[in-house]
Amino acid sequence: PGSATPYPVEAPASTALFDRAQALTPGGVNSPVRAFQSVGGAPRFMVRGEGPYLVDADGRRYVDLVGSWGPLIHGHAHPAVVDAVQTAAAAGTSFGTPTEAEIELAAEIVERTPVSQVRLVNSGTEATMSAIRLARAATGRSKVVKFAGCYHGHVDALLAAAGSGVATLSLPGSPGVTDATTAETIVLPYNDLAAVTAAFAEHGTEIAAVITEAAAGNMGVVPPRDGFNTELARLAHAHGALLILDEVMTGFRVSRSGWHGLDPVDGDLWTFGKVMGGGLPAAGFGGRAELMAQLAPAGPVYQAGTLSGNPVACAAGLASLRLADADAYRRLDEAATTVSKLASAALAGAGVPHRVSAAGNLFSIFFTETEVRDYDTARTQDTAAFAGFFHAMLGQGIYLPPSAYEAWFVSTALDDDALEQLAGALPVAAQAAA
Ligand code: PLP
Repeated sequence: PGSATPYPVEAPASTALFDRAQALTPGGVNSPVRAFQSVGGAPRFMVRGEGPYLVDADGRRYVDLVGSWGPLIHGHAHPAVVDAVQTAAAAGTSFGTPTEAEIELAAEIVERTPVSQVRLVNSGTEATMSAIRLARAATGRSKVVKFAGCYHGHVDALLAAAGSGVATLSLPGSPGVTDATTAETIVLPYNDLAAVTAAFAEHGTEIAAVITEAAAGNMGVVPPRDGFNTELARLAHAHGALLILDEVMTGFRVSRSGWHGLDPVDGDLWTFGKVMGGGLPAAGFGGRAELMAQLAPAGPVYQAGTLSGNPVACAAGLASLRLADADAYRRLDEAATTVSKLASAALAGAGVPHRVSAAGNLFSIFFTETEVRDYDTARTQDTAAFAGFFHAMLGQGIYLPPSAYEAWFVSTALDDDALEQLAGALPVAAQAAA
């Protein structure tokens, strides 16, 4: 594939599967961002992943810049991860008892991050939901501050101005989330310390926690301004509240210690997911031991899970983290620089207004001239131009996130061949966006 031999617009096998899926599953997908809702067309159904590539039901191969939305920093089906999964699965898929694999994964997380204890869960949503429960219990307070455009999973209390998925579908929040639930949520503009100061001045004694993406990735990538996270910690602590740093997307990706490795902050709780599961469902939340000791069965704050710390997921996560050495992070950083520079040069060449916005090796290309610092500025994007760009890339065998409000996820598997294909496709797609 490449600009010389574009794929046909029709994808008959994917379309047939999508028709079947739509009859059986709402919208034909099990997570909204997988649908091509904002870019149009039928989503591609994938059958296989190989290093930097995805292969769809029509047998077409794509350079993958989604990486399952973040977990796959080593690319698809890395032999060490596959081997670890096969070995673990052969010994049994779940026991409902503690296992050594959970200790090993927890030890790896504790060694890399500021947390001294971690509780394993199955998804980032569970991690943030449980961290908030713990913060409310520990402070005896109920209000939570979150930032517009930050997504912390589909937790009721946090589904207010929640970034990409919601932005893509143009929903203001979600029906089914009660007023009582969101009444305890204070939504503030991202990167706006004056707003945070004012919120603490007004509600200081009622705020249990501030939750923030360590670096925002769900309104597209918008890094915190210098000192923003540090000041959040200071303000929260001055008012007896906790700071929860959500590293579900940044954790173990932007450095071996996540965003904390680039911008260390005196937080209270951290949430993790994605990379730590190696492509299987595993997530976690952690903090200092005294705080974590309030969780059942050590303490009274209930939190549980039938499959939490699943042995196969732990094996995949451990294998993935063990591959994530200094050289892997150097390659991820290099890949991000190469891909973002190629994309920006192609768009500039076609005269398409855009901004590259990066937080370490996580980046987005915003289709706007406006400098992006928060959700409002992110939404100045020309999403129609992005849709044209997206489909032109897809037609040349490049799989981008199907929304303008997403990070582009690179992997260490992006080799010279994949980058060459990307370099050939970008100028053609840039013309389609012009
Ligand atoms: N927090 C952040 C920062 C995320 O990016 C996500 C998912 O994209 C979540 C939480 C929710 O994680 P999950 O989709 O595993 O529930």
